[in-house]
Amino acid sequence: MQNKCPFCLGEVSEESGWLKCKSCGSFKILWHLRQQIEDGELFLENRHLVSCWLRNHKLEKSRAAPNFRSSEDVQVIISQCPTLPRERVASLFRCLVTATPELGRSAKVPMADLIAASYSKSEIECNYLLNWLKKDEYLDNYGPSDGKIACLVAPKGIDAFYSQSFGHRLTVFVSSTCFDLLDLRFELAAFLESKGHNVKLSDDPERFAVDPTDDSIETCLRNLEASDVVVCIIDRRYGGLLTSGNRDGKSATHLEVLHARSLAPPKPVFYFMRERAWHDYGLLRDNPEASVRWVEPKNPDSRSRWVTFVNDISALPEHSRSNWVTFFKASTDLKGLVSKQLFDFFNPRIAANSG
Ligand SMILES: [Zn+2]
Repeated sequence: MQNKCPFCLGEVSEESGWLKCKSCGSFKILWHLRQQIEDGELFLENRHLVSCWLRNHKLEKSRAAPNFRSSEDVQVIISQCPTLPRERVASLFRCLVTATPELGRSAKVPMADLIAASYSKSEIECNYLLNWLKKDEYLDNYGPSDGKIACLVAPKGIDAFYSQSFGHRLTVFVSSTCFDLLDLRFELAAFLESKGHNVKLSDDPERFAVDPTDDSIETCLRNLEASDVVVCIIDRRYGGLLTSGNRDGKSATHLEVLHARSLAPPKPVFYFMRERAWHDYGLLRDNPEASVRWVEPKNPDSRSRWVTFVNDISALPEHSRSNWVTFFKASTDLKGLVSKQLFDFFNPRIAANSG
């Protein structure tokens, strides 16, 4: 019996019950889970999709490779893979733009990376999608060069990428209280989806308050782990308290932020706070008894938990120098601010060149 990767059939290394594949990505999968996949107990019709996904994440170093502990973890990855040709071509195009050294010079990328970026089953499929980009004038030209494929991105393509109308696909986890921010959350989610991103909304403890289960928050944390980035929105409420085990007395948002930071490497978290809440925080930080009108005005216990939460995150070592939080007035300006942060973070080279 050879040890093979269940996704790309490449060679794997074994380490105390975990398997690692070095050819499609440095993910880890539990031995018995691989066995289940091979025995056909776990239905995995799209194994090449997972292989492509892992390879793309390996190439984009800002993203962390996942650990597969259960079949659900595998299904979460499958659900994030683009399936429609338009989505796949966007993923391919993102790869080409990020590999472009400057306008007018070709990106030189190995065929295997282009196949992974376009989630293609073969070179034929990949070439077909490259041809689509060329016909739509996003690419000026492409062809073999020194064992790689040289692709010349057209000005129209760069333009579409900068204006975020083409080529982006991140999975964004939105962490916030739900009851008071219902409209804002859905408005932000719809906006980010219109930009081509996947959006996961954090779970709502108020929704399962009648019968709180560990499962709901667990699923939520798994979704967070499988996301590229967490957007944490802080407003006037602390949120309903979780009651089980070591989560006792924390809100879902608080727990999600702590969990994002506890991962290795930590998941990037962007914080956005409403200006009115920041104003109250200034008063409460100096005097916990201060009378405020926006942050938990009627609930001293929640108010003090809210202040502790904001104190905790503002005291994080990485927040000591830079502006760690972005302020917004309303959902209308929040959308643009979130969008810009995501773009600058995941395309630092492009953002620097455009400045
Ligand atoms: Zn593999």
